[in-house]
Amino acid sequence: MIPGARLILLGRQGAGKGTQCVRLSRHFVVPHISTGDMLRAAVREGTELGVMAKRVMDEGGLVGDEIMVGLVRERLSQPDAVGRGYILDGFPRTVGQAEALDIINSERPIDVVIDLDVPRELVLQRITARRVCRDCGTNYVATGNEHMPWICEVCGGDVMQRDDDTTEAIAHRLDLYEEQTSPLIEFYQRDGRLAIVDGVASPDEVFRRLTAAVEASRRPA
Ligand code: AMP
Repeated sequence: MIPGARLILLGRQGAGKGTQCVRLSRHFVVPHISTGDMLRAAVREGTELGVMAKRVMDEGGLVGDEIMVGLVRERLSQPDAVGRGYILDGFPRTVGQAEALDIINSERPIDVVIDLDVPRELVLQRITARRVCRDCGTNYVATGNEHMPWICEVCGGDVMQRDDDTTEAIAHRLDLYEEQTSPLIEFYQRDGRLAIVDGVASPDEVFRRLTAAVEASRRPA
């Protein structure tokens, strides 16, 4: 176990980040902070933020930097994140968010940023088959042979396709990734905080590569 690790997992949507983050968070005993999950919780609760975010998410767009930075600032100030570190999933997504994050955690900087690299064509296939538990967020892969209604093995909730996993929204999200998020690779590469992990392998192998990258970053030079 690595106490107090602060990590960011970058990568295209559908690269398997969510599932790997859940495993990493158990392995390193640090909270998994997913801005997508935070927004989906706001949508379920029907808050003002949720109503606005649903519109943006269903189109595959990005919620504004100011709102996202405010959400993350508040979350990172919680005792669990301050004391145990965290894995950020889905944030930052723009250079503006990354700059704001450096200011928010200037006293406790990020240890390592991992880019989970999966080519666009492959994530397209994966997102199309992605199903998610509406209640606990567990991810599944549809094969077409499932019994309907599909019930989550973890919590008994309904397993469904995400509202934002339509063909148009997926294409829009992947375009936005190239335009707005991929510049973060260079942003973090510049000051030596980036590790690139090849995400084209079995989930167990990708997990092994990810933990090795985290451990290498925490080893004294
Ligand atoms: P995710 O669960 O990370 O795939 O996020 C789902 C959706 O939430 C994204 O397509 C965006 O619309 C929105 N979202 C999540 N995180 C961010 C962020 N850091 N900045 C802007 N929008 C976000």
